[in-house]
Amino acid sequence: MEIEQGPRADVVVIGAGNAALVAALSAKEQGASVLVLEAAPREQRGGNSRFSGGIFRFAHGGRDHIAPLLTEEGATWLDRVTIEPYEPHRFRADIDLVCQGQSDPDLITTLIDTSYDTMAWMQGHGVRWELVTDKLFDPKKIEPGVTYAMPPGGAVRATNEGVGLMYDLFNAVEAQGIEVLYDAPAHELLMDGARCTGVRIRRPDRFVDVGAGAVVLACGGFESNPELRLRYLGPGWDLVKVRGTRFNMGSMLMHALAVGAAPGGHWGGAHASPLDAHAPDVGELSLTDRMSRYSYPYCLLVDRDGNRFVDEGEDEVWLTYAKTGWAIRAQKGARAWQIFDQKTINLLEPRYSTGTPVEAGSLEDLANKLGISAEGLQQTVAEFNAACGPNDAFDPFHKDGLRSGAGITPPKSNWAQPIDKAPYVAYAVTCGITFTYGGLKIDTGAKVISTVNAPLGGLYATGEIAGGFFYHNYAAGSGLMRGATFGRIAGREAAAHALGGGAAG
Ligand SMILES: Cc1cc2nc3c(=O)[nH]c(=O)nc-3n(C[C@H](O)[C@H](O)[C@H](O)COP(=O)(O)OP(=O)(O)OC[C@H]3O[C@@H](n4cnc5c(N)ncnc54)[C@H](O)[C@@H]3O)c2cc1C
Repeated sequence: MEIEQGPRADVVVIGAGNAALVAALSAKEQGASVLVLEAAPREQRGGNSRFSGGIFRFAHGGRDHIAPLLTEEGATWLDRVTIEPYEPHRFRADIDLVCQGQSDPDLITTLIDTSYDTMAWMQGHGVRWELVTDKLFDPKKIEPGVTYAMPPGGAVRATNEGVGLMYDLFNAVEAQGIEVLYDAPAHELLMDGARCTGVRIRRPDRFVDVGAGAVVLACGGFESNPELRLRYLGPGWDLVKVRGTRFNMGSMLMHALAVGAAPGGHWGGAHASPLDAHAPDVGELSLTDRMSRYSYPYCLLVDRDGNRFVDEGEDEVWLTYAKTGWAIRAQKGARAWQIFDQKTINLLEPRYSTGTPVEAGSLEDLANKLGISAEGLQQTVAEFNAACGPNDAFDPFHKDGLRSGAGITPPKSNWAQPIDKAPYVAYAVTCGITFTYGGLKIDTGAKVISTVNAPLGGLYATGEIAGGFFYHNYAAGSGLMRGATFGRIAGREAAAHALGGGAAG
């Protein structure tokens, strides 16, 4: 195929999600000329970031410290909530807990220490922040005088979630005069030895070479690619549903490895969460994040035989949901059912309205309607109910320590109360993959590190394509924050490299 010589820019950013656009803005701020290359057509731009709930996890000093970040409308429910301080050590403890202490300590320190400042910087570029309230609960259904304790690490999101985040970021990019090329998938890196000099993009009828002083890879993980999922995550993963974009095929991740980048992080791991069983096989922008099913701490989660298989109340949902998809995938047919009774049905996240609940007056009828074992479900619920103590302390908004009694395996560590108030309501769920954890090895300057442990000159990475942050599990809101903090660093460093003549390596 013909190869055409295309444009040149100081900094070329590959991808047009949150990480990429933050990098583009940051490079531009340093005085670099910037070009963004996006595989998707314009209508589908924005990657997983556009599908996302837009939640950002950052270190802060509590409600009063958060308040200046919020728009007036975004602070509407501020007096109905409490938000404890989320100091750096608490952020780190959560990451260490869920990632079993395996995250790269330097990368995590940088993420945490620059998180609040990056939120303020993004606000300065026009990103509008609001409280997450109506995602977690319906404020109008909470009794007057009751305050909701928000998870301190997951209290703030972009206005209008991922759609609003990308709307604001594209506006900022356009306001800066940064050009974005659509339908322009990067095909390979142009390398001069261990130095990156540009990118070859694949148009329908030809290749186009784009020259660059530095390149920022921000083109996602390999979650959308069934062949790579099977290869790295294991059998069955080729068949799971994809929660977000269809464009994160991992092609540049593979290519970067081929030119000498070192792999970093947990290549056998991925963020995967409970998803409506009837969700489309790949995310649709008309639904974005509304097919997720995260009210499982208030239910019993059972398999086809009616058996429980996870501790639904192990911790606050933002610290368990990304591994609960794994547990569901391991069940027969990668399918499970969330069983609620009338005591908690009012606590379901509002997005359950996109689902198809199945309701019945008895557990036997419910199981028959669902096509699961009636005997198994009745026995599981009977044994579970018998193991529950008094439920006066039930507190949906805090970890209430209401734990199932002895003999129940797995235990339910919080919010354990009998399922006994008919009619019973069930939602069928499956596993939805969100993003992969394995990626390129980077340093705290977002430089891509080679297999001989030296930076590949002029090559930077941020967002999902960078590994070393998440292992085994994940704390909600840290994906977007990771992409933004390291996007800002990558843009700044790439600009310095390009404008400084590239000597820094
Ligand atoms: C439904 C859902 C809800 C989520 N909610 C949250 C949340 O609330 N908070 C949070 O922190 N995280 C959330 N996440 C995870 C988070 O959205 C992602 O991890 C994050 O957006 C990744 O940002 P990114 O910029 O690295 O990748 P993306 O936003 O996916 O951007 C990658 C871009 O690269 C493009 N691309 C891919 N290959 C190429 C190529 N070869 N050439 C050019 N372009 C290419 C893609 O088209 C895409 O635009 C959610 C994800 C999903 C799917």
